Amino acid sequence: MTDNKLDANESTEIEPRTRRAFEEALSVVSLDGTPVDTQDETVVMVVSHTGESYHVDAEVGRCECPDHTHRNVDCKHIRRARAALGIEPIDSRVLAAVDVDPTLATNAPGPVVATPDGGIVNAGDDGDVLTDDGDERPSDCACGDWNADADLPCWPCYRDGFEDPAGAD
Ligand SMILES: [Zn+2]
Ligand SMILES: [Zn+2]
Repeated sequence: MTDNKLDANESTEIEPRTRRAFEEALSVVSLDGTPVDTQDETVVMVVSHTGESYHVDAEVGRCECPDHTHRNVDCKHIRRARAALGIEPIDSRVLAAVDVDPTLATNAPGPVVATPDGGIVNAGDDGDVLTDDGDERPSDCACGDWNADADLPCWPCYRDGFEDPAGAD
């Protein structure tokens, strides 16, 4: 993960559950433990680094964990699943303000990132060249028909400094 704190707005308040959802080493996988291939697969398993695993219905917003069953809130598992599946865009300001778990997009289609106008996404700090037309998309780019019209890049594209889906080039 790059040090992506460039524009972390001091006033950006990150919900504690959102922070945990992105910072903790959670894996989003299919119910049989294999990688999630498609965004259509919205009932998944979220496995924590401590070994607990919960079935999550990311679309409906249901999880087996105590946080959800007792408080009926969108727990970190639901938030993580939605992000990892790309069914709920992540605000790029949130990404800039948290220490994102590098495995965020490992077993799932990967997040999409909503970038406000003015382009918070940039790669200036570590010497990366800002993206221009014609730059190559990352090899793990997951853009496709699903986000071509959405104005949202897939996670690998966002990570590499692209603000638009590959289809928009
Ligand atoms: Zn949960
Ligand atoms: Zn992409």
